[in-house]
Amino acid sequence: MNNAINAICDECEQEYLITGLETENIGEDIEKTFFTCPHCDKEYIAFYTDSEIRNLQTEIRSYQWQLGKVQTVKRRDRLLKQIEQTQAKNKEKMTALRHMIENQ
Ligand SMILES: [Zn+2]
Repeated sequence: MNNAINAICDECEQEYLITGLETENIGEDIEKTFFTCPHCDKEYIAFYTDSEIRNLQTEIRSYQWQLGKVQTVKRRDRLLKQIEQTQAKNKEKMTALRHMIENQ
């Protein structure tokens, strides 16, 4: 498996590979997902999640899984719509949560 992403650190301006994300619990129900620069250890936040967001993510994955097995166009369209709506809702919640955490 190789899905590493090349990035350049804002802090030390060295190139590095993002090989994976780390998660850390930062208080009740909230997880921080982040990666760090291997050269200077600067931390980059990818996103924050709470249980509601994690449930939405599970829901999206389940729709995507169903999409791979779908038989009819009608059902496929309905699933695509559900994915789109759930992703929009999820994005909104993630933005709000990040805003809340970073403006504390
Ligand atoms: Zn760095």
